[in-house]
Amino acid sequence: MNQRELFFRHVAQTSTAPLALEIVKAEGSLLWDAEGREYIDMIAGISVCNVGHRHPRVVKAIRKQADQYLHLLVYGEFVETPQVQYAKAITDHLPGSLNSVYFTNSGAEAVEGAMKLAKRVTNRSQIIAFKDSYHGSTQGALSIIGDEYWRRAYRPLLPDVLHLEHGSFTAIEAITDRTACVIAEPIQAERGVYTPSKEWVKALRKKCTETGTLLILDEIQTGFGRTGTLWAFEQFNITPDVLLLGKALGGGMPLGAFIADKAIMMNLADNPVLGHITTFGGHPVCCAAGHAALKVLLKESLVQDVKKKEAILLEQLKHPLIKTIRSNGLMLAVEFDSFETNKKIIDACIRKGVLTDWFLFAANCMRLVPPLTISPKELKKACKVILAAMEEVMGVR
Ligand code: PLP
Repeated sequence: MNQRELFFRHVAQTSTAPLALEIVKAEGSLLWDAEGREYIDMIAGISVCNVGHRHPRVVKAIRKQADQYLHLLVYGEFVETPQVQYAKAITDHLPGSLNSVYFTNSGAEAVEGAMKLAKRVTNRSQIIAFKDSYHGSTQGALSIIGDEYWRRAYRPLLPDVLHLEHGSFTAIEAITDRTACVIAEPIQAERGVYTPSKEWVKALRKKCTETGTLLILDEIQTGFGRTGTLWAFEQFNITPDVLLLGKALGGGMPLGAFIADKAIMMNLADNPVLGHITTFGGHPVCCAAGHAALKVLLKESLVQDVKKKEAILLEQLKHPLIKTIRSNGLMLAVEFDSFETNKKIIDACIRKGVLTDWFLFAANCMRLVPPLTISPKELKKACKVILAAMEEVMGVR
């Protein structure tokens, strides 16, 4: 049996139509399959590979840490230098109130930890989230996912969860002194890249402060320069009480985090002690890789170039099949009339050597979230291929 056949037989599937490309190597913005075909990666592992695949500094940091130690003990017991150094580096680039980092295995685990923290801090149970938001697939995170289609089959889920309209001023009146936390993406990714107004985000912050509700911002997809600022919340001149990170946080290795003020975080240390337990969260190799990736991001001034690269994509991608493009930095949703059109274009792109996909709650939108390290030349080449794919699809309609 070949690898593909073994994949279908032994690797659990959650879809009847996985991409099933057999990738044998990845570097920078490029992937290669087993037949030697090259692909420009326009999705970066869904906003993970912000500094590209296998950046030499990231690989070097992984090797160095692997020579020192791997897993030692459950999270939070030993002083592990990679964790300490990375937590310090992240908080050096955050407002003073976001000074304490709890490292987890994944984005969803960071969501779980933050929701538990909010209950402990406020002694309240109500959790408010937003329609069309995605926060992960574990049962707590699934309870707050903003689309009933994805929740239905798994009920009963967490009680006392309310979903509001993202961007609506009247909706935020529902936040009261019963609400433990509001959890929001600053820019809704899986809805197909929707950016709310500054005024709305400020009003949301104000309402949370007035009601003693923790504002948790999920920057798992928007963090680490994706939107042209290191953190998307900078665009709104507000500071959340809790910040969630994941995806690019590990530089290509699995890592998540929830970050808050030390005084808030200490609620997890008492009654019961060990308020959140994780065996592998903050794995030293993942922290070393993530720290190296953050240094690359800052040293190579990648965040400063995001808007210029966004402009290249917006300028090049003009075609009668495109209904609209919503973007915020190097996070773009190219909207077509239907999923069918989008899927045909995505499939044609893959055949022609460009990797893209669609969004969970916007299947008619093509996702473009390339590595931030992608060169203007590679971007233009990818655009040519995407336009050729659109031409091909239009030709057979
Ligand atoms: N939050 C957002 C905004 C995400 O996009 C994701 C993953 O796509 C998650 C949370 C969950 O992260 P993970 O898949 O690491 O559990």
